[in-house]
Amino acid sequence: MASSCQSVAKTLADVAARRPVLEPVLRAFEPILAAQAELTEELAESVRATGLRLPEPQAEALEQGLSLLAGVSLAGLAGPLRSSAEKLLPLVVSLEAMAPHAAALEAMLLAPVKAESKKKKSAGAVTADPREAFAEAMLSGNSEEEARLAEENGLDPSVLLFAFSFVLAPVLRTLVAQSLPEEGDAPWDAGSRWKHGYCPVCGSFATIGWLDKPMLDEKNAYLAGGGGKKHLHCGQCGANWKFMRGICPSCGKDGTGVMEMLRESGAAHGERLDWCTKCKSYCPTVDLREREGWPDLDALALGMMHLDMVAARKKLRPLKPSFWNTF
Ligand SMILES: [Zn+2]
Ligand SMILES: [Zn+2]
Repeated sequence: MASSCQSVAKTLADVAARRPVLEPVLRAFEPILAAQAELTEELAESVRATGLRLPEPQAEALEQGLSLLAGVSLAGLAGPLRSSAEKLLPLVVSLEAMAPHAAALEAMLLAPVKAESKKKKSAGAVTADPREAFAEAMLSGNSEEEARLAEENGLDPSVLLFAFSFVLAPVLRTLVAQSLPEEGDAPWDAGSRWKHGYCPVCGSFATIGWLDKPMLDEKNAYLAGGGGKKHLHCGQCGANWKFMRGICPSCGKDGTGVMEMLRESGAAHGERLDWCTKCKSYCPTVDLREREGWPDLDALALGMMHLDMVAARKKLRPLKPSFWNTF
């Protein structure tokens, strides 16, 4: 889908034309989203040169809900992470809430990369580079280690998490892109073993869901599929995975009446919230059958923030709190 995907700028311009009231917020985050998209291409060579690949999904691990990068060593990624920070950090610290932390963030994330970024200790492999170590802690859901590294670098854990998520994203997206086949299912979709609302690659909760368009068999010009299959999208690593429409991605309950839909009256362009009547969580979702082209999903999630406000009034909570209302 990435090949025919609209740019961040085009997606946000379409949203701004329909919802002028959102324009200032869209403008504030557009440079970060655009830079992330550019970096995903720019980093391809340096990430490939590290020799790091996503591990092959194992059926049993998928069935147990173990995401691919949990517990994986990221030794060697310090260079690409630093390149990402060079481009993104100036944009991140220009956000008002981040400005007071600029010096500490720069000291940690723009530190020179040591030739030997990995040291082994007797207890096993421990990365010495703080960027690699923090990425490993995030991807393993190790909040104690996150807090320790934040403190060591003079930062509040929530501030470091917020800033680092932007820096890590393009590096992960490059890894994901390099592991996708030319066509056909993503490796983690094979056999439909993954049944969670969090990402099979990086463990982050989905930021947006999407229902696919009818598929045209291009060689034979017949309709190969009617579309409407649901997928979830990870705003952190960019992975997409298939998901059952009737199941709540947060609490996992299913059945009639569990999932409800909330949409604006009038032309909604397929944009809506899918929310759970049991646990009151929601995830923005777009039905691509109701619109032209393929929007950039990360930009569209930002562009659907008017529905986040509706959800907040209904006392629903987001499956994944979005970066634009974290600080
Ligand atoms: Zn992910
Ligand atoms: Zn639920």
